[in-house]
Amino acid sequence: MNRIETVIRRIEEALGQGRAAFEKDILEAYSRDETSDLSAMPDVLVRAESTAEVSAVLRICNEEMVPVVPRGAGSGVTGGAVPVNGGVVLSLERMNRIIEIDRENMVAVVEPGAITGDIQKAALAEGLMYPPDPASLESCSIGGNVAEIAGGPRAVKYGTTRDYVLGLQFVLADGSVISTGGKFVKNATGYNLAGIILGSEGTLAVITKIHLRLIPAPRHSLDLLAPFGSLEEAMEAVYRILLSKTVPAAVEFMEEDAIRLVAGFHRKDIPFPEARAHLLIQIDGDSEESLHRDIEKIAAAIGLPGEEIIVAAGGPQRERLWKARRAIREAITAESPVFLAEDCVVPRSRIPAFLAGLKELFNARGLRSIMFGHAGDGNVHVDVLKGDMDYEKWKELVPGLRREIYLRAIGLGGTITGEHGIGCLRRGYLPLAASSAEIELMKRIKKAFDPNGIINPGKIIP
Ligand SMILES: Cc1cc2nc3c(=O)[nH]c(=O)nc-3n(C[C@H](O)[C@H](O)[C@H](O)COP(=O)(O)OP(=O)(O)OC[C@H]3O[C@@H](n4cnc5c(N)ncnc54)[C@H](O)[C@@H]3O)c2cc1C
Repeated sequence: MNRIETVIRRIEEALGQGRAAFEKDILEAYSRDETSDLSAMPDVLVRAESTAEVSAVLRICNEEMVPVVPRGAGSGVTGGAVPVNGGVVLSLERMNRIIEIDRENMVAVVEPGAITGDIQKAALAEGLMYPPDPASLESCSIGGNVAEIAGGPRAVKYGTTRDYVLGLQFVLADGSVISTGGKFVKNATGYNLAGIILGSEGTLAVITKIHLRLIPAPRHSLDLLAPFGSLEEAMEAVYRILLSKTVPAAVEFMEEDAIRLVAGFHRKDIPFPEARAHLLIQIDGDSEESLHRDIEKIAAAIGLPGEEIIVAAGGPQRERLWKARRAIREAITAESPVFLAEDCVVPRSRIPAFLAGLKELFNARGLRSIMFGHAGDGNVHVDVLKGDMDYEKWKELVPGLRREIYLRAIGLGGTITGEHGIGCLRRGYLPLAASSAEIELMKRIKKAFDPNGIINPGKIIP
């Protein structure tokens, strides 16, 4: 009996008959996430239903030295949940309960498989807000968000997942269960273990319960869309908005290739399809008056006449404005199923230099690129489309292209990823952004949590 057969037998003894799936058609769906052009088959799938089950699976795999890959909803875009070394995919999708929305303490207690959008809705029903808003919020899980430190447009005002985790329960490779933090805001009790698990991309432990900080939900919010004659003008406007002491919840940008792509995709059903850049700005607050004051300040800062800015307060109107921004990935996939998706971060003021330099580089090589993202926090999405290029040629081109993009971001004072993580796609490039001393420390942390290296091997650390 080989090691995988032994693991299947032991998992079924511990969890029950039929709990370790190994049929090819079932495994197929767990061989990929949303990363373009990447898949690898697992040997076994276990959909855990409790922390005790997670603990049993980890203990067995650790004893048998078989890899375990934690998986949330599989919406990751850097291959974090792809079992590149085979082994067991440990899915948390069935541990999806919102255990409690505690109004008094403004805390949500949730299982890792809970869908982020569902947590937001449950909080809102109590007048509370869970602000992090990845574009994938209707399909990603909170466990994946914690593992990736997911962010979204509202990071400008509210921060990212990192800013809302008050406590975690997680399971180590040997099956031991650790609980840290809870329904309290301050905590100075020893090392910040939750802080180490945040962003660890399922390489240190499996998260099984999360305490999330909630805040009072603002009573009003609206969106503004402004067109610009160039990306530089749009970025200058962002700078002036922030200087005007208005803190928008979100400031998103799209450059002209992104606007044209989505306009084509939606048959022009987007506002200002001919603009060279868009800014989509969200503001929120407790009174309509404060919002109107913010609109005036923003309009003055942008320097555009009022009639050239669309203000959307109602649901369908707002949806129309966000439609273009949210449809970019779908539009890209429709045009080129294989593409490079980068999410570097640079100081806000360097966005135009970063993007202009890259556009020139891509154009010179005949590559089609689409750029958009979070102007308010410097996290820019740079997607390069394979189009009809020969696949072998594309594969040869990608490593050099990635390296060039990362070096330019780092050269401008930024780093290689703002929200999508390292996963397996970018591990070879980590030394560009982290010193050898940092990487050595990461290796020692990994060893302390997972001495046999069974949890999500082949991710993050080169
Ligand atoms: C259309 C689209 C839009 C997106 N927009 C955004 C965005 O705006 N902002 C953003 O940050 N990301 C975005 N993403 C990326 C993705 O949704 C996030 O990375 C998300 O956090 C992944 O969550 P998931 O549950 O799908 O995790 P998965 O893809 O299943 O896993 C991601 C990583 O987390 C680990 N993991 C998952 N659950 C656990 C757990 N319980 N314990 C330990 N490790 C675990 C996995 O091992 C893996 O390394 C987008 C993706 C798509 C497809």
